Amino acid sequence: MNSSRRQFLARTAAGAAVIAGGTTFTTSQAVAGPKHVTALTNVTVIDVATGRRDRNQTVLIGGDRIIGVGRHLPVPRGAVELDFTGKFVIPGLADMHVHSIGDERVSPPLYLANGVTTVREMAGTNPALYDWRDRIENGTLLGPRMVVASNIIDGDPTLWDPNLIQVIVVGDEPSARAAVRRVKAEGADFVKVYSRLSPPSYAAILDEARKTGLTVHGHGPDQLTSQQVSNAGQRSIEHIHSLGLAVSTWEVEVRRMIADITVKPGDYNSWFRQLHPIEWFAANTFSRARAADVFGTLRRNRTRVTPTLTMHSVLDRPDYATLDPALAKYLSADAVFTYDYALETLYKANRPAEEIARQHEMWAWRQRFVRELFAYDVPILAGTDTGTPYSVPGFALHDELELLVGAGATTRQALYAATVEPARFLGLRDDLGSVEPRKVADLVVLDADPLQDIRNTRRIHTVITRGRVISPTARQRLLADVEAAVKEPPTAATIPAGGCC
Ligand SMILES: [Zn+2]
Repeated sequence: MNSSRRQFLARTAAGAAVIAGGTTFTTSQAVAGPKHVTALTNVTVIDVATGRRDRNQTVLIGGDRIIGVGRHLPVPRGAVELDFTGKFVIPGLADMHVHSIGDERVSPPLYLANGVTTVREMAGTNPALYDWRDRIENGTLLGPRMVVASNIIDGDPTLWDPNLIQVIVVGDEPSARAAVRRVKAEGADFVKVYSRLSPPSYAAILDEARKTGLTVHGHGPDQLTSQQVSNAGQRSIEHIHSLGLAVSTWEVEVRRMIADITVKPGDYNSWFRQLHPIEWFAANTFSRARAADVFGTLRRNRTRVTPTLTMHSVLDRPDYATLDPALAKYLSADAVFTYDYALETLYKANRPAEEIARQHEMWAWRQRFVRELFAYDVPILAGTDTGTPYSVPGFALHDELELLVGAGATTRQALYAATVEPARFLGLRDDLGSVEPRKVADLVVLDADPLQDIRNTRRIHTVITRGRVISPTARQRLLADVEAAVKEPPTAATIPAGGCC
């Protein structure tokens, strides 16, 4: 059993009571089972793994678990029946790359209101995130299941300006090992690695993480190839920066160009601008044979890729980045200010017209690249990099699903990346990822079929999180409360926006 699953089970002791002792429920036991049963009736259940639609289903929920699923199951006496004729139910969605913003009254409810019942928080830069995670688990805060990264561990010099984010900087093997022990003690669920780590520091992090029982996720460091990262045991590679560089006919030349990158501490913009011509060169020397080799390694090692197209669409086209007027009310003035600042100083500064034009073409290339990832059956995680300018927690996942389909994924593949694959990745395949008995009742009820049109994931009727039903009225209230909360001045526990990548 991996560490995520152990932690999950330890934290859900209360929920486990429903299936105490590993009891297998049959339908009749389920009907005679626990009190407080909720029955969803006449609903179409979507099995994301196969793409099957099972019509006229009854889904019984007892406690935080699904206790029965079947055609016209009898509804137990005393159960609360919710007639979902004409509606579709899918497993709760996961956004596998977020950076929450605001205080606990902002990001957690926004995720849930959007059907996002699990998030992987990609930088434990603020201890409040561990506090949210633990309070959500013990039932004192309403929010999605959170798997929270360590603080970012980067090489020396780091790309991050300490005025934006204080990351952990390691320059050698002992400091790398100490960083892993430190983040373990701080409560991280996994280690987040970053772009400027040196190969010796990186190797020390992987080794120390193995000893301490933490997995390693994050960026592929500049000085390592994607295959080296995958073979070293890193569990996920975020974004398409490093991966895009790995599939050039001229990989030797690409590696030499990368080795020549130099950055001053905190000069993210400079790193980006040195990376752009290398990405451009790699994209224009794309090799199908190299792609087959690299993608084959990722597939065999089950190294997940989180393309974060939502992020790339902004960073490749910062001149087009806008705040959706319908969603502006869910962001504080402070968050909008920070997004504006990040956009101007990190992503738009000092860019000549030619570079801007090339970045636009890079956006088209990244979409083709994602299509190749799906074609080669590389395991994909849906993640948004919420925290990128103008992204709004929860809502952004639906953008990502749409972008994945726009890049060439089928609607089922996009849903799979936000349900089945995250469940497997987190070691929670027995608990999440499908609408089946014994699984946690994390569900989204939709007004229209998402397999027909992925935009239908936005048509949310009801959200169920660990058996708790968020009705349409309750959902509107959650959103209205966020709208009110962002108008108040930030508190000490507010997590500023600012982006990560
Ligand atoms: Zn990120």
